[in-house]
Amino acid sequence: MFWNKRNKEIIFVHFDKCSGCENCIKACRHHVFTMVKVNDEKRAVANCTDRCSQCGKCIISCRRRAIELVTQMNY
Ligand code: SF4
Ligand code: SF4
Repeated sequence: MFWNKRNKEIIFVHFDKCSGCENCIKACRHHVFTMVKVNDEKRAVANCTDRCSQCGKCIISCRRRAIELVTQMNY
């Protein structure tokens, strides 16, 4: 993969795997996540990724393995 200095890793939630348990909300001291309702079911969204310290606690807390660090490409 072409590596650009401006590329960075950000937290991403796989919507289809999320059960809405809120473990990630409790694990993240930087308040990166928020809960949304989709078809009357709760889902987590990482909507403040600029605050993320990449501590990995949310990834460990998620039993559904719905959270991962992904590389954001900036050109
Ligand atoms: S911990 Fe995982 S399953 Fe639970 S709300 Fe967060 S992303 Fe969804
Ligand atoms: S890696 Fe740490 S700071 Fe970043 S979203 Fe997860 S718990 Fe929050």
